Amino acid sequence: MYYESIPHKITPVADATEAAAKIKEGKASSIEALSWTNENGKFYVVSDSHIDDSPFAETAVLKEIDSEFFQIDSITAAWIHTKEELTTCFVDAANNPPIERKTQLIVGESTNQMAFISCGCCGNRFRGNVKEQLEFDQDNGYGICTNCKHYI
Ligand SMILES: [Zn+2]
Repeated sequence: MYYESIPHKITPVADATEAAAKIKEGKASSIEALSWTNENGKFYVVSDSHIDDSPFAETAVLKEIDSEFFQIDSITAAWIHTKEELTTCFVDAANNPPIERKTQLIVGESTNQMAFISCGCCGNRFRGNVKEQLEFDQDNGYGICTNCKHYI
């Protein structure tokens, strides 16, 4: 879940249709959380792509409930050809949200959030402080673990 370690900027959109259009037209960056509200609640779509993939190739759909974030779907948007099909995926997720799991969405500057991070040196996964890891100028879930810090 790469998005959990990235500070985001909220970009309000009218609905799932506008979110899908921005993604398929390449008009959304990897730090944007596209957000809309409807009668079913408040939703966000965020890029969950590996740094080697284009933004939103993998997309997570989140729902905010009582100021907490829950991931309700994970969509490989790169395999979906049209914005209409992607809209349908978002609408289906929002209408029938099987709550996959509680997650976090960092909005604005990171304070003290922790996230699973892959070490850019040895490749091990570790739980690290997002703000501390940003000093290594890493993104999309990469950082430097404590074992490798002495190489830096
Ligand atoms: Zn390491």
